[in-house]
Order: sequence, then C-alpha cells, then structure tokens
Amino acid sequence: MNLHEIKGQSETGFIVATVPLTSEPWQDLPPGRLVVFHEGQQIFPVVQPDTDKEETLHALYLIRTSSQRESVFYIMNMIGLELEQANIILQPLLNKGYIRQDRRDRGSPFEHFSTYYTVPAKRNEIDQLLKEDAAKVVISAEQIDFSVAEEEDKLLACVSCQTFYKEGITFCRKCLERVNELDTRIADIIFSLNAKGYKTEHSCAGRGDYIGKPYIAFSFNIDVSGPTCPQNYAWEHSKKVLRMMSYHKVMGITKKKMEQTITKETLEKFAINNLETLRSWADSLPVIDGN
Ligand SMILES: [Zn+2]
Repeated sequence: MNLHEIKGQSETGFIVATVPLTSEPWQDLPPGRLVVFHEGQQIFPVVQPDTDKEETLHALYLIRTSSQRESVFYIMNMIGLELEQANIILQPLLNKGYIRQDRRDRGSPFEHFSTYYTVPAKRNEIDQLLKEDAAKVVISAEQIDFSVAEEEDKLLACVSCQTFYKEGITFCRKCLERVNELDTRIADIIFSLNAKGYKTEHSCAGRGDYIGKPYIAFSFNIDVSGPTCPQNYAWEHSKKVLRMMSYHKVMGITKKKMEQTITKETLEKFAINNLETLRSWADSLPVIDGN
C-alpha cells in the first residue's frame, strides 16, 4: 500500500479491515480479540520490542560498528528495506535504550537524514548481545563437505569473507554484507572469484537435465569474450553473465536429437566436466581491484 500521500515520514498507524485489501501480508485478527490503538500505536496487548529480528539486528550491527553516527537513509539502504519501515526496525532499539538520535538532528526520529549512534553506557551489553548472536548463526567451514556435495546441496554464505551461515540469516556478521545462497558444488569457485576482486551477484551449479545450466552473474562487466572465455561457456554482455552452453549447441546437434538420444548421465557428466573447466579458469584469472 502506498501511504506516502496520506501520512508523513515519521507518522505511524494501523489499518484495520474486514478483508485483506492488498496482496501484502495482513495480520489476522481473530473474532473476539481485543486490540487497542492510541495515536498510531498499539497499546493493548503490549507489543514486546523484538530485538531478535534479523533486520533490527542488522541495524544494530551497522550503528555499533560505525565510527560515526549513521543516517536512517544509510541504515535502511544497507538492510534493503523501504524507508517507511524505519520505525519498525529502529523502535525496538530505541525502546531498549541501545541507540539515541543525535541532538543536532532537526528531523523527526524516522526521517531520511535523522542519525543514530549507540548509547555509550549500553555498548558492553550490545557487544555481548552481538557476540552471542554471531556464535549462534555462523557455521564453521569444517562442518561442510564440499567434495561429496549433491546436486541439490545449498549453503548460505558471505562471498566477501567466506563465512557460512545457518538458514534464515540475511547478512554477514563480520562484514555486514548481504549473504547469498550458493550451490555447494560451485561455492569454492565463487569464493575464489570474489577473493580476486571479481564480485558476483548470484550463481547456479546447474542440474543434470536439459534445463539447468551452470552460470555466474557478476556485479560488473569483466568481459571474458574471445580467447579468455572458458571453453563451452558464453559471455552474455548485457546480463553480465557467464553461462555454460547447451550440450546440443556444443555438439552441433539439434535440441530434439539431444532429447531423444542423449542420456541424463551424459548430460550430467558434461555439466560436471564444464564446472571443472570453470574452476581452472577461475584459478588462472589475475587478481584485480574489485572496485
Ligand atoms: Zn562477510
């Protein structure tokens, strides 16, 4: 719902309806339930501040690790949420007394350029909270066996610092970047590329059928067309994607003929061999400045 026109940036409120008015996630209000709203806040039943929520934790990490006060605009941009949700994200931290708005600000609490820093007296408590959180969500690399990865195996990782995370985690506790879901089979290639400065957006290790083909989408054009392109791959300039070519195209047969005569095992072997090519290619690339 677009509420920009009827409410200000810092105003909060609730919409109560008998049926969901949009496809957004509406909360159920069962018959007989009493809820009291006052001046745009729910006052009964009392809502417990939820500092455990992933997005709110992300905000706390950002503010705590910054050497300066951070703006609402920056925080929300880093988390990847709309500015309208700033109150939902930051209110629990204000309630807990963890953060404080800078006195020099002229804007109301949740406006773009309002800024926050962590309350000095609360910093030890915050550090303890963040330490416990990190210990809960990080998976050590020794717990993952890359060599026996199955086709469907996935893992959640930060490609910048190669830290692995449990399900449901959205940001890296070390460098605060967004975490990616990776196919375990291709993960080591993705790490090697990122370590050398070839930043990747997303990737797929492919599937052993006619549809899924391994690809890597990069954050910027690295231009590997011509002799530098790994064998059996094509560089899609407009999409910044390096994608494995179809078996039938490489072999010079029609798609129909491939579907009729080539077994799933052959296609899977073809994909695995090409992943090996990709691995050697990534190893041979020079280190660049990723920025
Ligand atoms: Zn990281």
